[in-house]
Amino acid sequence: MTTTTTTTKSSVPQHLRMEAEVLELRTRHPFIIARGGQSEYRTVWVRLRDREGCEGWGEAAPSKFYGETPETVLSALNLYAGVMPEDPFDIEEAERRWQLSLRGNPSARAALSSALHDLVGKRLGIPVYRLWGLDPAKAPRSTFTIGLDTAERIRAKVLEAESYPILKIKLGTDRDIEILKTIRDATDKEIRVDANCGWTVKHAVRMLPVLKEFGVTVLEQPLPPSELDGLATVTRAADIPVIADESCLTAADIPPLVGKVDGINIKLAKCGSLREALRMIAIARAHGMMVMVGCMIESSIAITAAAHFTPLVDIVDLDGAALLASDPFLGATIHGGQVTLPTGPGLGLRRR
Ligand code: MG
Repeated sequence: MTTTTTTTKSSVPQHLRMEAEVLELRTRHPFIIARGGQSEYRTVWVRLRDREGCEGWGEAAPSKFYGETPETVLSALNLYAGVMPEDPFDIEEAERRWQLSLRGNPSARAALSSALHDLVGKRLGIPVYRLWGLDPAKAPRSTFTIGLDTAERIRAKVLEAESYPILKIKLGTDRDIEILKTIRDATDKEIRVDANCGWTVKHAVRMLPVLKEFGVTVLEQPLPPSELDGLATVTRAADIPVIADESCLTAADIPPLVGKVDGINIKLAKCGSLREALRMIAIARAHGMMVMVGCMIESSIAITAAAHFTPLVDIVDLDGAALLASDPFLGATIHGGQVTLPTGPGLGLRRR
């Protein structure tokens, strides 16, 4: 990592003081998906401090694809700082006020939501998963992602990912079959694929027998976000689960997807809060849908916030911090695919 290009402090007198700081993160390898990629990522570390000096942490991992940059996050946070709750336990109202005062900006709101949950957990002296009544042992194993690359580097990455039992392979290129072949020649592990909107319906349906041949077990977002009927066609033709990611940002996106995909991928940077993530899980479950939790390239702060609700999901893909060259924080880990939650109060985070 390294830090700080900008620090903002809320200027309005508040019960909760906010500080925000840009983190500069670097992945071990350039992380490339169907719509591009890079090695350097900037996220925003948010701290909320109450009058007793108790501090809650969150992280915004803005994505241009969803209309955010570190700069928009900092501006949005300054605005949200003006409508902080008097009581940090008033999380529902806090999240409502933030959304009403400025819509969009989901990663900025997610950072504040995480920070409030962390603060409340610390005030009560219990981990957030305990607050929700969850058993961390119920968390499914996490995948580890192999991004787009040359055959040689893909082989090296598969070797590096030796301790992870399930790999997620990025596709959505004109050399997908070659990528699958390279992976399969290198390992017989379970593989799941994510085309990141890179296919057409016709191509996706043509790829299904290929995926089967290579033993792929899950297909994530084959088509562009708005092609819900196309997703339905692919899902009907597939005998593996089809999961919506870019087509499903918040709870309101779930009803139109019912019967069209098998499951949804929840990310805090898309849905904007931990409470919204829980609502999405409840709604998906009511429709008999599978639930996945994913992430951005982000530090252990944002990964840990999402890791606290992994006992409620079927598929975990929380490798964002594991892909970093160095992570400034310690929190939940996914060593060997095993999700291990910190047992400290709140989110249980520490500086490394
Ligand atoms: Mg995805």
